[in-house]
Amino acid sequence: MARTSGTARPRQAAISLHGLTKVFPGGVRALDSLDLEIGEGEFFALLGPSGCGKTTLLRSIAGLETPTSGKISIGETDVTTLPPGRRDVAMVFQDYALFPHMDVTANIAYPLRIGRTPRAQRETRASEVAARLSLTELLGRRPGQLSGGQQQRVALARAIACRPSVFLFDEPLSNLDARLRLEARTFLKRLQDELGVTTVFVTHDQGEALALAHRIAVMDAGRITQVGTPAEIFHRPATTFVASFIGSTPMNLLPGKVSGGMLHVAQAVLPAPGGLPDGESIVYGVRPEYTDLSTTRTDNGFAGEVAVLENLGAASLVTLEGPEHLVQAVVPEGREPGVGTTAWVVPRPGRALVYHHDHLAGQI
Ligand code: ATP
Repeated sequence: MARTSGTARPRQAAISLHGLTKVFPGGVRALDSLDLEIGEGEFFALLGPSGCGKTTLLRSIAGLETPTSGKISIGETDVTTLPPGRRDVAMVFQDYALFPHMDVTANIAYPLRIGRTPRAQRETRASEVAARLSLTELLGRRPGQLSGGQQQRVALARAIACRPSVFLFDEPLSNLDARLRLEARTFLKRLQDELGVTTVFVTHDQGEALALAHRIAVMDAGRITQVGTPAEIFHRPATTFVASFIGSTPMNLLPGKVSGGMLHVAQAVLPAPGGLPDGESIVYGVRPEYTDLSTTRTDNGFAGEVAVLENLGAASLVTLEGPEHLVQAVVPEGREPGVGTTAWVVPRPGRALVYHHDHLAGQI
């Protein structure tokens, strides 16, 4: 897959996409005129719901899909029409794609063999990389004799042994159970830090993207909706789609109107950000973690009857049912009101977001 240069440290590369479009036969527009710049050495996540075009984008960078139009550069090179083997990228797939009849050494060294690296050199390289990923004891085993986590490390070792300028990962953690997935995630982050190789990572798991990436592109229907650091994406989602997609508990998103310079949302009256004319419709967003629950009436809270309590461990998620809305709050353990109690969810100052025509109009 990748070129096997003899440099001691992998080279880094920036990736540029310009007007990238992919229309599959039958008319599905999987990528719709995408522009994106990924920096040298960056750990970059492509995040979005199933079918939004993440895998198509990754495969286009790898050279496994031919774009309908647009341009892809890696470093200084226009790779748009280059075959995968000449792009200097290594890809790790969801299913690892290990050869079942080869042992771990042969699997790790396989791309080097294809690249015609001499046998002695490729075996040395395979055992060096294996040592780094704690695979030395397993070099003689076949994939069927390894756990899921070990297979994942072999697939990573194979990619690293190529010394590519770019790693492309397509949901490489999704076959692991929840605990192993957390461990593998930490391991991957340290490894990327250490190697400093430009890495593009596809995931539909927002928690994984927030935990791992330097920056995230949120995709929807073949387009990029927002690019930002995990903090930017979490605290200032640009649209209600991003707001509803990010966060382990979904953001409260309630329709409202501007009237008399204030926001009227689900019977609450709240301060409005500047620049919104009277009579305009808005969507008011606040994360359940950034609210307080009051059991005394207040005009700046969303009223409702406690309908559901969900235990989150150190806290609880409380769902209130109002006349025309559901609203949720996270409360510390031991502070939950009983089911059936009337309560008010009060947004904390500076934590609410106001969307106008589906775009972020202000934070209050
Ligand atoms: P998932 O998370 O489910 O893997 P994804 O975001 O990676 O989804 P893609 O696999 O890139 O999405 O698919 C994007 C769109 O292109 C989807 O509508 C999909 O059905 C369509 N698509 C993908 N591959 C092909 C193909 N070979 N022929 C026709 N349509 C395709």
